[in-house]
Order: sequence, then C-alpha cells, then structure tokens
Amino acid sequence: MRTVVSYPRSPVPPVRRHDDPTGEDFGNVRQASRTAVRDPLGPAEAVEAAGIPRAMPLPPPVPVPKPFPVPLGSRFFIWKQDPSVGALGRRLVFIPSLVVNGPRDARIDTSLVGTTPVSRNADGDFLFPADTSEGDCAHTFAVVRETLTMFERVRGGVTIAWAWNVGGNTDVLTAYPRAGVTANAFYSRGQKALKFFFFTPSGAPEPLFTCRSLDIVAHESGHAILDGLKSGWLGINNPPQTGGLHESFGDLAAIFLALAQLDQADALIAMTKADLHQKNFLAALAEQFGAALGRPAGLRNADNDLKLSQVSNEVHEISQIFTGAIYDILADIFRYERIRQSKTKDPALVLMEVSQHLCGLLLNALIRAPDTGALYVDVVNQMLKVSKEQNDPQIYRTFIYERFALREVVATEAPLAIARGAVDWRDAAFASRKEEADLLAADLQHPSVTGSQDRSGCCGTMQSPEYARDQKTLDAELKKLAEEGVTVPDAAVLADEVAGLQRTFK
Ligand SMILES: [Zn+2]
Repeated sequence: MRTVVSYPRSPVPPVRRHDDPTGEDFGNVRQASRTAVRDPLGPAEAVEAAGIPRAMPLPPPVPVPKPFPVPLGSRFFIWKQDPSVGALGRRLVFIPSLVVNGPRDARIDTSLVGTTPVSRNADGDFLFPADTSEGDCAHTFAVVRETLTMFERVRGGVTIAWAWNVGGNTDVLTAYPRAGVTANAFYSRGQKALKFFFFTPSGAPEPLFTCRSLDIVAHESGHAILDGLKSGWLGINNPPQTGGLHESFGDLAAIFLALAQLDQADALIAMTKADLHQKNFLAALAEQFGAALGRPAGLRNADNDLKLSQVSNEVHEISQIFTGAIYDILADIFRYERIRQSKTKDPALVLMEVSQHLCGLLLNALIRAPDTGALYVDVVNQMLKVSKEQNDPQIYRTFIYERFALREVVATEAPLAIARGAVDWRDAAFASRKEEADLLAADLQHPSVTGSQDRSGCCGTMQSPEYARDQKTLDAELKKLAEEGVTVPDAAVLADEVAGLQRTFK
C-alpha cells in the first residue's frame, strides 16, 4: 500500500548559506524538488493536502507516427581484428545504408559459389555464426563497405569511384571471400574484384581464412580505393616509392578503420595506457596471417623505426617507412590533443577524432600528389599544404616535417626537436622550421626513387602480373573496362542509387 505523505502548507524556510559545505546556496533547488512531489494526478487526498488543483487525467497516449522513409541499414558481425586476437572477438556493426541479399549494395557485391546470394533475415540483418560461409560473406562485405564509407566520410561525403567508374559506368567491386586455396589476397582491377583465399598453415588443425582478418580485408579494399583515386599509381613502371604509397595506404586503411570504432579505440587506450608506442594490436597488422607465416608481430609492424637508408627498392620495406612515419604522426598529434583536451574529453574519443582527422589529411594529400611517379616528398608537401589550408595547429605540421625528416624522406632543414626531446607539447604554434618553401627530398638518388620496383615482399595485389605491364597498356585496358559495363541493377530497390551514381561517374 502506498504511503500518503502530506507536506506542510507553510513555505519552505529559507536555507542558510552555511548549510552547504561548499558555500553554495541550494535553497531554490530544494524548494523546487519539494514542489515536484506534488503530483496533480496523485491520490486525491495527497493532492488536496498539498493545496493544488486536481488535474484531469490525460487521455491515453496516441502512438507517434513513424518517420517516413524508415531509416535504412543492416547489422553484421565483424571480427574486431581477426580470430587469433581472441580477447577482442567479434562485434555487431550497423551499416547505415541499403544492403540487399548478397550481401550487395550499389557499390559492392559478394560472390561465393553455393552460398551467395546470402539472404537478410526478417529484420534486414546479416547475422551468422563465425565459422560459416554465410558469416564469411557478411564479414567481408561489411569490412569493405566500412572502409569505403570511412574514406568517403573524411572527404565530406564525396563518393569515391572505383577505377572503372568513368563515363557513367557504375559497375560494382565484387568481393570473393573464399576465392580458392592459397596464402594470398588481392585486388584485381581487370576482374573488378577483391579476392580472399584460405590455406592451412603447417601443423594447424584448421584452415585460415584471409577474409576473416579486418586488417587484410581493409588493406585490399585500400588498394581498390586508391586505384579509384590514382589509377596511374599501380603500374610497376612507377618508382618504388609510388608502389610503397599503395602498399602503405592499405595498411593505414586498416589502422584508421580500427580507430574509427569507439570500442577499439577504448580497448587500445586501456591496453597501452594511452601510449601508442606500447606494443599493441593496432600496430601489429594481420596478426593471425603473420603468425602463420612466422612473423609474430603480424604481417607488418606499423610502429617501426626504419629509415630510408636501411631499405633498397623492395616495395614492402619501403612502404613501412611511410606507414611508420604516419603512425608516429598519429601518436604525436594524439599526445598533443590528449594533453590539450585532458579536462574535457575521454582519451578514446580524442584518439578517434585525431585518427579520422589524419586520415582525411592524408587522403586529400594523396589526391593532390602527381598522377604518376609520386614520391613520398610529394605527399609530405601536400600534407603540409592541406594542413595549413584547413588551419590545423602549426604543431601538427612540425610533427609531419620532423617525422619524415627522421625517416630520411625529406631533407633536414633545422635541428629536430623530437630527437632532442625539445617539443613543447602545450604550444599549438610550436615550430622547428619556417613554413615557406616546399621541403626537398633527402636523397633523390636513392634506389627507392631511381630503381625499379621489387614487389617480392608485397601482398597479392602488388605481386599480380596484371599491373606489371606498361602504363599505356594499363590505361587502354582501363578504358575498355569502363566501356564494357553500364550495369542495370538486378535489385530494383538499388535502381535510384545506381542512377545517381551514373550521373556522378562522368
Ligand atoms: Zn597490398
């Protein structure tokens, strides 16, 4: 039975200031809270005792009409890293756009003989156990989609075309989660495809599926995305550093994608106590795949100290210099922003924001770099320009210059503050050089500039004979690829979206 409490009619006595140890006068608050218990719809005797008029009961609530159109989207399970990083496991993700049975949408399709098209459930979701072919299709689609969406978002929502999406061509990129048996994964422009293979490492009881690695799927998606932006960079006739940019972009796509997820950023902060140079799952790329090949730190280690003078013309090694420098810059900007926002924001959120900011800065710099033969110094100079144009704190550009100078990519103009431990982390305008002229390359005679590309240590994309032809042949083939497809979507619900893309892909 409810106890009826009646309150005195007399006004609440004023509260003395010294009642509160902080000296604040909360008199009004207490009065307000006491008034609030006078519920006009409460039991009649309580209302009467409180001396307020009895209100009429409200009519039954009218259901709020659902907004139209109903927001689109499907849920998927993805591996946070890969099945070997057990502590992280899988997570549910929401893809906030229209995905039909396949899974497929207006840009990405999935193909697995005997399995696809995989059907959505009644809620429009693609939720399957981890160890199934349906689960692999859903995972692969979701990670490719998230990678593309991430890069489109950091460009302010601008659609990124696949390389063949010119002249109104709207052909999709098709992901093959189980393309065959071998230790490999690659992007093929000629097949308009991402292919993920599986293999059984010696002594292992079960096969290892490359499509279950977030890093590998994001890496290969990165090749496809960069090829859409810079179709002249994949040919083997470019200098080794241009190949290094392609390989590095794939690895960075995996890092930025992991950090685009708040729970991943949060786990990383806790694991490393907010020091990104502590050994962590983020810097170790493709853990399971790497372990199978005998590389305990993953396939590549983003947190490395390699300098240009320590590598030759081997593209994978060269790529680690660029990846390592960007990783260092990420750690530097994060450290600066963490100090600056220490009283106002959780470090995980700061890390997410810094990561997306750097992702956008890098992407815009790559787009503005030369269409063929781009060198690291070209991208660095564009990063500095974009950063200045968007009014980043000057200390960001100090990090960019110094990290690439330490790696012997750009010429050192002045003593480096980072190497001397002389950075003032609280000074947004901290600078170690005058921002006037472009930076010069440290060594234009280096084999990574003058040599020919050795792709023996790279992923399947870079090793594919498809890109080992001269640029003229590649350009002619790309033209053919664009002309052959004006796809009529088989899913009627995607027709409007595809028609829009047709207008965008001129
Ligand atoms: Zn690659």
